[in-house]
Amino acid sequence: MQIINTVEEMQKFSDLAREEKKTIGLVPTMGYLHEGHLSLIKRAGKECDIVIVSIYVNPTQFGPNEDLSKYPHDFQRDKTICIENNVNAIFCPTDDSMYQQGYQTFVNVENLTKSLCGKSRPTHFKGVTTIVSKLFNCTKPHKAYFGQKDYQQTRVIKQMTRDLNYNVDIIVCPIIREKDGLAMSSRNRYLNEEERKSALVLSRSLDLAKKLIDKGETNPEKIQREMVKLIESENSTRIDYIELVDVDNLTPKDRIEGKILIALAVFVGKTRLIDNLLV
Ligand code: AMP
Repeated sequence: MQIINTVEEMQKFSDLAREEKKTIGLVPTMGYLHEGHLSLIKRAGKECDIVIVSIYVNPTQFGPNEDLSKYPHDFQRDKTICIENNVNAIFCPTDDSMYQQGYQTFVNVENLTKSLCGKSRPTHFKGVTTIVSKLFNCTKPHKAYFGQKDYQQTRVIKQMTRDLNYNVDIIVCPIIREKDGLAMSSRNRYLNEEERKSALVLSRSLDLAKKLIDKGETNPEKIQREMVKLIESENSTRIDYIELVDVDNLTPKDRIEGKILIALAVFVGKTRLIDNLLV
């Protein structure tokens, strides 16, 4: 497995793979790998000849008071996981090589980024689309793998890929959860024992919503209210948003019909967690 730190080296690696008619799968991550990331890596391994995992904590997708400086990392562990799972290259560029002095170009998807997480993180998706676009240019993938855990991100990236004519298939993989239902996330590491228990209320509230819908409830506000009640009954939770939205344009539904996305972001202590369910 190669560890690549520069854009030039990365592009050379991918040019060579493409000359050899190999298909390239990219798995973009911020490192501190867990089973969620691993499911993307395994899927890429099944579908592509070459798997590139990028590990880069992208500063432009963090707001001023967010957790950029304390984001968890353990490169040696990530490296071992990648070797064990037949990854061909880790791309871990430095900040200087990604955003060289005088950098001033950003990619922004306009509408899909205004709702859900975009409300409380107004600059987040601009950072995400910029870095993903740069990663596409560096690694030249045929396919790129993302998790449904970040559903809005997958919609935004699909839109960007279409709008900017990237010839990359965007593959969305299911949410991987702990046995007790908590969606896996590098940020779960921030939770203390009590918060870890409280955090279960996110997936439990989604289960509750599904039950209500299965029973025939069609009023999104009623479902939202029940979810709020459940989440607020738990210690140290603060709701950022709970929304029942259209799966394509991410705008709120007046009535539950067809396919919908139930998405939420909740602070547990100081940690902001997200989760969602497609029903
Ligand atoms: P991150 O390192 O948190 O930026 O995540 C990198 C990729 O892994 C993103 O596409 C995430 O959606 C995906 N991912 C993170 N957690 C999970 C999970 N629990 N299940 C599936 N995919 C995940």
